[in-house]
Formats: sequence, structure tokens, C-alpha cells
Amino acid sequence: MNDYIYERMDQKKISKKIKKLNKVSDKDLDDRFEKSHIETFKKINCLDCANCCKTKGPSFNKKDINRIANHLKISPSEFSNKYLSINDDGNYILESTPCIFLEEDNYCSIYEIRPKACASYPHTNTRNVRNLFPYLKEHASTCPAIEEIVINIKI
Ligand code: SF4
Ligand code: SF4
Repeated sequence: MNDYIYERMDQKKISKKIKKLNKVSDKDLDDRFEKSHIETFKKINCLDCANCCKTKGPSFNKKDINRIANHLKISPSEFSNKYLSINDDGNYILESTPCIFLEEDNYCSIYEIRPKACASYPHTNTRNVRNLFPYLKEHASTCPAIEEIVINIKI
């Protein structure tokens, strides 16, 4: 694995770009994000980073909890009690980071059954992406892909 060199961009630059993007129509905005998302992930290999797994972790919905607990051969409540806590929004999140399922080589030990939120992270190729602007601004400082995707959108 290559050492991933993660250099934070100026977060003011990201906020400024997001402000500009807010003036673009919904469909055009979604299309631009999708294009930039695809191009960015041709360059960025998440296995060289895993910053989201190291510093954030996902939220777990009920189906995630049942599926993962079943895989671990423990009850959903045992899994929740042992590894999860509930945040201010009432969502189940990891009790601590890095994620318990992150391996030393940055692989996810439950990749095939990982939480839905992990599978779609960083959510930059979603429809109605405008609704996620506050979230993307918050996560840009830890996810280099979000920074690249936002900055590389031509406007
Ligand atoms: S989604 Fe972002 S933070 Fe997570 S591994 Fe990929 S580049 Fe890194
Ligand atoms: S479940 Fe897997 S993909 Fe999700 S945060 Fe943990 S290690 Fe990363």
C-alpha cells in the first residue's frame, strides 16, 4: 500500500465553492457532482486513506445492526451495547473510532455487509446533493475525495 499523502485544503475555499454551486439548478448540480465524483474516484484509492473509517465511522440503521450482529453470531442488542452509542439525532454510531472493523491494511473486515452509510460514503453521487451541502462542508476536512470533487467541478 502506498502512503497516502493527505493535505487539507483551505476549508474557506471549499465553503466559497459550495456557495457558488448553490446557484446552479438542481439537475445541473447533481450531474456536475456525479461527473466529478466519477473522475475523482479514478484518482483516489480509498484503501490508501481510510480516513472516514479512522475518524468518523458510519451511522448504523436497524437492518445494519441485525445483519452485522448475525454475522458476528451475537444478538443485535449485544452488538449495540458493546460497540455503539446514540448521538444527539437519535442515530446509532460507533462508541469510538477507528472503526472496530477496520483492518491494518485499511480493508474493511465486513465489507460485503458493511453499513449502508459506508457503502454510499461520501454521498457525492446522490440526487438532491444540495441537501447535503452542510454535511459535505463538515466532512470535507477529513475526506480528501469530497474536497477534490467540490473543487474540481467547473463553474
Ligand atoms: S471516502 Fe474519503 S475519507 Fe473515506 S477513504 Fe475515501 S477518500 Fe478517504
Ligand atoms: S464498517 Fe467498514 S467501511 Fe464502515 S467505517 Fe467500519 S471499516 Fe470503514
